[in-house]
Amino acid sequence: MAEVLVVVESSGGTVKKVTLEMLTLARSLGEPAAVVLGAPGTAAPLVDKLGEYGATKVYAAESAEIDEHLVAPKATALAQLVKAVSPAAVLIGSTQEGKEIAGRLAVKLDNGVLTDAVELAADGTATQVAFAGSTIVKSKVTKGLPLVTVRPNSLTPSPAAASPSVEQVEVALADTDKLAVVTKRVAEAKGARPELTEASIVVSGGRGVASAENFKIIEELADLLGAAVGASRAATDSGFYPHAFQVGQTGKTVSPQLYIAVGISGAIQHRAGMQTSKTIVAVNKDTEAPIFELADFGVVGDLNQVVPQASEEIRKRR
Ligand code: FAD
Repeated sequence: MAEVLVVVESSGGTVKKVTLEMLTLARSLGEPAAVVLGAPGTAAPLVDKLGEYGATKVYAAESAEIDEHLVAPKATALAQLVKAVSPAAVLIGSTQEGKEIAGRLAVKLDNGVLTDAVELAADGTATQVAFAGSTIVKSKVTKGLPLVTVRPNSLTPSPAAASPSVEQVEVALADTDKLAVVTKRVAEAKGARPELTEASIVVSGGRGVASAENFKIIEELADLLGAAVGASRAATDSGFYPHAFQVGQTGKTVSPQLYIAVGISGAIQHRAGMQTSKTIVAVNKDTEAPIFELADFGVVGDLNQVVPQASEEIRKRR
């Protein structure tokens, strides 16, 4: 069976969920082989987890230069690997960096590229969701191999134990790969909350929350549930919560077990980022709010009463 290359995304020595999702997807297309691109020592702590989700091989392209020059060296490393191993397909996360790598790789290989796939059939047909979820598109790369970016949270990762071999990959970089230099890295301020796109529970607040100060009731509920906090664009644009936490078409896509939408009307652009959540609870004072069409459970009421009461109830039951 030909290999399917899965480009690994990791953070602080932990494999990101989108990679586990892609490994799960890759198993239906061929033999999953993970590709780690980064500084020396990046691959070692990731190998066991990659094996747990079916990677039979880990290609480690590790060098200080790959780490120091943003995405260009990663695309070059991948292009060289693809030429060397002729995989059946290449899967990359539909993240900001992933999409840039995919675009550059497509140019280097003179290959077609599809972005934001939510499904990929064994024959390489990708399903994409367009216009904020209102249109489903089926597409196929007709020039070259299926080179596809996969939208995070599109499928549930399932384990499949494998013991991957690790192969170091030598990469020859050109001077043009080194034109952009990372001068500073700023660690994302991390609290005790889970990362938004990885969380199994998300509590999101919208314009109805009314102020940055009042977002503390959203955070309080989230913390009691061990959840991540999200926000609608109206809330982030109004400065109630940072843009990094925006859920939706132009924000992050989440697909948790439980999504609690508080003071959010349910505009199509917001739905695009959360409609695949397993259970949706909406709190809104307007019985006609479109979010109720989508919600599994709805609470009609003033969020300033409902949310603190819910938090209080959870606290009592602990
Ligand atoms: P509103 O639509 O104003 O809804 C507020 C809700 O709160 C109302 O339903 C109201 O009844 C309720 N409410 C008010 N007070 C209370 C209270 N005290 N108790 C209970 N309920 C209360 N939006 C996103 O979210 N994410 C995106 O990524 C995104 N991308 C976009 C991209 C484009 C190109 C465009 C054009 C728009 C995009 N939007 C996005 C914006 C989107 O169209 C909506 O404007 C936005 O989602 C509305 O946010 P909201 O639901 O918080 O606010």
